Amino acid sequence: DVRHGPILYMEDVTVSFDGFKAINKLNLTIDDGELRCIIGPNGAGKTTMMDIITGKTRPNEGSVWFGSRHNLLHMNEPEIASLGIGRKFQKPTVFEALSVFENLELAMAADKRIIPTLTARLTGEVKDRIDEVLETIGLTALRYQPAGILSHGQKQWLEIGMLLMQRPRLLLVDEPVAGMTEQEMERTAELLTGLAGKQSVVVVEHDMGFVRSIARQVTVLHQGSVLAEGTMDQVSSDPSVVEVYLGA
Ligand code: ADP
Repeated sequence: DVRHGPILYMEDVTVSFDGFKAINKLNLTIDDGELRCIIGPNGAGKTTMMDIITGKTRPNEGSVWFGSRHNLLHMNEPEIASLGIGRKFQKPTVFEALSVFENLELAMAADKRIIPTLTARLTGEVKDRIDEVLETIGLTALRYQPAGILSHGQKQWLEIGMLLMQRPRLLLVDEPVAGMTEQEMERTAELLTGLAGKQSVVVVEHDMGFVRSIARQVTVLHQGSVLAEGTMDQVSSDPSVVEVYLGA
């Protein structure tokens, strides 16, 4: 577990949509190598927060830093992505007609900004990386199968693998276990906790059992600000959290 201080630093960030503050003086620090869960009721600002980090939404006020050197407010979406910030949306989007292996290959090609030709000879380095990622996501045995035959959970892991091809420093993951079986959820917990340490992982998730099983630190958002932060035990016994969220 190598930690060098914050990888992401947001200070007093505000985002208004037609005068409505979806994010309201949000302060958030994510440490290098940390696995953080973000919870909060619908409309709390979780999606908007992710959109700010990736540069999709511009704050009206505040500052957002990646490490100590990169002011994200001075960068556009592709520039931010190229720093090593990867985002996994809720629905899996893999190329169903291509094999698991080819999906990972394409993800690598995208990184190098070349037009990928699937018949192109792979460099040893890329092959090694694909093998490594296949192991990490537990799909080695299915490598030559079309992605279309994978289960919902396996597709989610493949998409995480596609992000891993580019060795991200920060992974943003939106509701990874929605629609998964119990077994798939357990495997996903192992996957995400295994990734932390090597990179930072921020997970937005509604399933409280899952959050409890993976997160050391939980941030509760409410009305665009941090309502509570701490372990799941700490935040779930916080009366303000119980009132707005868990008790609802
Ligand atoms: P969450 O992901 O926690 O459910 P969101 O970030 O999606 O919350 O939304 C926070 C608030 O901002 C909600 O009240 C939502 O209706 C509002 N909002 C989000 N995006 C927009 C937008 N593009 N225009 C207007 N209002 C928005």
